[in-house]
Amino acid sequence: MMAVHVGGHSIGLDRDEAGTDLNFVSHAHTDHLSGIRRGKGAFASEITRELVAARGRRFENAAVPCGAVLLSAGHMLGSRQLYIDSDANGRSVVYTGDYQMQRSYAAEEIEVRRADVLIIDSTYPYQSVTFDDRSEVISAIQCYSAQKAERGIVLFGAYSMGKAQELIRILNEAGIAPVVDEAIARINRVYESHNVRLDYEVADRLAQGGGGGNFVGIVNASRLKETKLEVEREARRRVFTAVATGFAKLFTFDTDVQFALSDHADFKQAVEYISICEPKEIYTVGSQAGRFARSLQSAGYTASQLSKGAMTEQIVSSTASLG
Ligand SMILES: [Zn+2]
Repeated sequence: MMAVHVGGHSIGLDRDEAGTDLNFVSHAHTDHLSGIRRGKGAFASEITRELVAARGRRFENAAVPCGAVLLSAGHMLGSRQLYIDSDANGRSVVYTGDYQMQRSYAAEEIEVRRADVLIIDSTYPYQSVTFDDRSEVISAIQCYSAQKAERGIVLFGAYSMGKAQELIRILNEAGIAPVVDEAIARINRVYESHNVRLDYEVADRLAQGGGGGNFVGIVNASRLKETKLEVEREARRRVFTAVATGFAKLFTFDTDVQFALSDHADFKQAVEYISICEPKEIYTVGSQAGRFARSLQSAGYTASQLSKGAMTEQIVSSTASLG
């Protein structure tokens, strides 16, 4: 069970758990929304609530429990960590959700506080995977887009929430207003209502974008291949494809180019987080929790995977007095 206890509540962390009465939703990506349940309270930042609603899923945002604070996570607009100031023994607890230490062009900067207990995400658990400096990745994206747009149409595949908006900002800085579909434009409008300036064109079908000339387009990564074929067929121009994801450090994508633009922390950033947080106990969560705990252990940290058997009971009982 992945839960913390505060203000008389037992709180599920980014998912619904038996035995909890309230769920924390760290951000609006779909793999973190299972805590939104009919008949059960959920709380998130107001921006997260609006982004979730833009995808057609509405929930009433419950009040942040007494004794808990939401801190920026730096992952995407509205992403938050859950920070609990003090339990009966004077221990503080923080849950990161997805986070990063590098500053995104389209998200609030992360805030890291000291805490006795750290529950940390594990998306990139490998010591050997290091993201390049963001400014280098951004320059590479801008150069590639400007050069290829001279010769044809450039199509980026990216998450339509978070990564697409950061890409738009990056391209805008290079004087490019990309073409996006309505699904991305719906998310853009929430970003714009929170003062993130985005310059883009909306097209029902991307092939119709760019006024008949070359353009740079952004589509959800899952639709990149079919969109490429459609654009090639209709626009009759050369189409260059690209992805912008941290997984470019791990996998080879079926595209012309791949940029390792991540909105997660790599191992180095995790260590940076831990050095500021100075936790006495570290628990890893997420799909790579076991591997990440082992990587931290081999780097000299005391860390365990949360959400399995006895260790889970340990964290729950150790935080049970937080209320
Ligand atoms: Zn996420």
